[in-house]
Amino acid sequence: MRATVIHGERDIRLEEVPDPQLASGNDAIVRVVAACVCGSDLWPYRGVTPTERPRRIGHEFVGVVEQVGVDVTAVRGGDFVIAPFYHCDNTCINCLNGVSTSCLNGGWWGAYDRSGAFVDGAQGERIRVPNANGTLVPTPATPGEDQIGSLLALADVMGTGHHAAVSAGVTTGSTVVVVGDGAVGLCAVLAAKRLGASRIIAMSRHPDRQQIAREFGATDIVEERGDEGISRVKALLDDIGADCVLECVGTRESMDQAIRSARPGGMVGYVGVPNGGPELPVKQLFGNNVGVNGGVAPVRGYIEELLPEVLSGSINPGRVFDLVLPLADVAEAYAAMDERRATKVMLRP
Ligand SMILES: [Zn+2]
Repeated sequence: MRATVIHGERDIRLEEVPDPQLASGNDAIVRVVAACVCGSDLWPYRGVTPTERPRRIGHEFVGVVEQVGVDVTAVRGGDFVIAPFYHCDNTCINCLNGVSTSCLNGGWWGAYDRSGAFVDGAQGERIRVPNANGTLVPTPATPGEDQIGSLLALADVMGTGHHAAVSAGVTTGSTVVVVGDGAVGLCAVLAAKRLGASRIIAMSRHPDRQQIAREFGATDIVEERGDEGISRVKALLDDIGADCVLECVGTRESMDQAIRSARPGGMVGYVGVPNGGPELPVKQLFGNNVGVNGGVAPVRGYIEELLPEVLSGSINPGRVFDLVLPLADVAEAYAAMDERRATKVMLRP
């Protein structure tokens, strides 16, 4: 089969790799129907995190089950399934505590599982899914083509935006600032709206992304950053700041923006993969009783909650996909994301 391999900075190749095979009774083989490029895939692509040897990449996919091991009961051949951006058993103590990203038996796509068998990356034609019973969520019926994007968003960006909102405690009537206008930031706007926020300020400089933010429920757009951005935000919020700030970037600047946009007693929910060394100014947080909560989003636990709303069309997070390319054009998909010609690119094998 063909799958994506990153060789180094700006070096993405589609290569012939071995077909996946069942390695344990709780494995499934899934044919990928749609995958995508994540903002976090751009860190190795840009060389911010080094690629020491060629490796498989991609962690978001939906697909159709082709084969299951003898212990798999949650899905069967022919099922359309959503997978989170990691695999997990959904039964261990960490999974039961709602932190399935710390699953005691789990792991990541494009890496080795705990038995030492290779797990395929998502930007390919097929994937061996370990912990299939806990990882895969089947849809009740085969979805229509127009639903693929929103189902794929449940693999990462929508669940991650939702985690930011939940971590910041967004509830009915909350005032919210969203830092970051990538796919996660846009989904965080949608998540905040869904949880009842009354005011949602999206910080964005890109007209196309501002448009999606407004469709998702943003009431205000702030283009400025730094001190100017913070004064603009505060001016919109009685000069005190927001109840909840959703940090969806992961840089030092974005974390600073988020913390300083919160009102005294407010909460920052952060989900941006930390790069560039964001650190917490504890003295400042102490002085204003500002909390910081969040981390890598345990999206598996959110799929059941969000799936019915995607299927009914009441939320449409797939709107963030503004470019669809065949898997053969994966290198172009990365370039389009890197150069911000696209917000998020869907890949179709
Ligand atoms: Zn677990």
